[in-house]
Amino acid sequence: MSRIYNFSAGPAALPEEVLVRAREEMTDWHGSGMSVMEMSHRGKEFMSIAEKAETDLRDLLGIPDNYKVLFLQGGASSQFAMVPINLAAGGKSADYINTGAWSKKAIAEGKHLAQVNIAGTSEAQNFTTTPTQDELKLSADAAYVHYTPNETIGGVEFSYVPETGDVPLVADMSSTILSRPLDINQYGIIYAGAQKNVGPAGLTLVIIREDLIGNADPAMPVMFDYKTHMDNDSMYNTPPTYSWYLAGLVFEWLKEKGGLEEMAHINSRKANKLYSAIDGSDFYANPVDEHCRSWMNVPFTLANPELDAQFLAEASEIGLKTLKGHRSVGGMRASIYNAMPEAGVDALVDFMADFEKRNA
Ligand code: PMP
Repeated sequence: MSRIYNFSAGPAALPEEVLVRAREEMTDWHGSGMSVMEMSHRGKEFMSIAEKAETDLRDLLGIPDNYKVLFLQGGASSQFAMVPINLAAGGKSADYINTGAWSKKAIAEGKHLAQVNIAGTSEAQNFTTTPTQDELKLSADAAYVHYTPNETIGGVEFSYVPETGDVPLVADMSSTILSRPLDINQYGIIYAGAQKNVGPAGLTLVIIREDLIGNADPAMPVMFDYKTHMDNDSMYNTPPTYSWYLAGLVFEWLKEKGGLEEMAHINSRKANKLYSAIDGSDFYANPVDEHCRSWMNVPFTLANPELDAQFLAEASEIGLKTLKGHRSVGGMRASIYNAMPEAGVDALVDFMADFEKRNA
């Protein structure tokens, strides 16, 4: 069976080359006679896999030496708690920017552990835009500023990095990390669940400035203290070894493809093609302001929602899968992460035009 074009928001498509390589190495990794899944995380084989993954990620993102990279579990959802536990111990205040469903979840969790101030929100615009820098009401005494650079459900992406002065900026990059180059120095913490642009579910990346580690609330479990993981090279407990290995293969793949500059070119082209198709027709619509449309998650609706089911069924028949929008918004959503080939976007755009011709 040939592979489909999988537009899932996550777990999402992985590069086919990575899967083929994992298959080749499945039962006997580099002559070790073992699958990576069967290795001790403390053995020399897995240690070499873990170190190479970190080195490649550091190369790709240009991560400075004063930042630690942690390979954790618990998903981005655990980071909603770990951030305040580590940065706002004693119930300090923290600024949050609210741009949609994932911001809201971070805020709800933050409220259990810190004094949350909403420093900016686009709720009144139904989350179809991002607040501008001038609109942000940041507090000088905030322990950190939290924001969601890319809202996976709403398809809203900041086109700028909020300027927060000396207050550390914390970014939930679950659905945008590795889509383009970043200046890591602008952030205190970047975290991301892996299952979109990094690798399989089960792994959570945390890139954290060193001086932000070591201040956790001592009443909290040690597993929620970044220092525990830093001091033990992310091996305090058994890490998600296979996901870590596959993420490493994805990092190698990205380097072979020309790195994040090249990804940015391809991703911007892919997104432009899809938004042009949507904007060029009265049959399809996307409500997000042009300046903050996501490169990774493209929601769109049909003028006649009664055609939704037919659209999805016909798309599926020709191998364009998982296009159904999030249950909270309906319509369609095409997630077009790094692993979605440009040919997949072309096929979707062609199908959309054809479907419109037959049904408009
Ligand atoms: N933040 C964002 C932006 C997400 O897209 C998601 C997952 N869709 C999450 C957080 C939650 O991630 P996890 O399931 O890894 O906890």
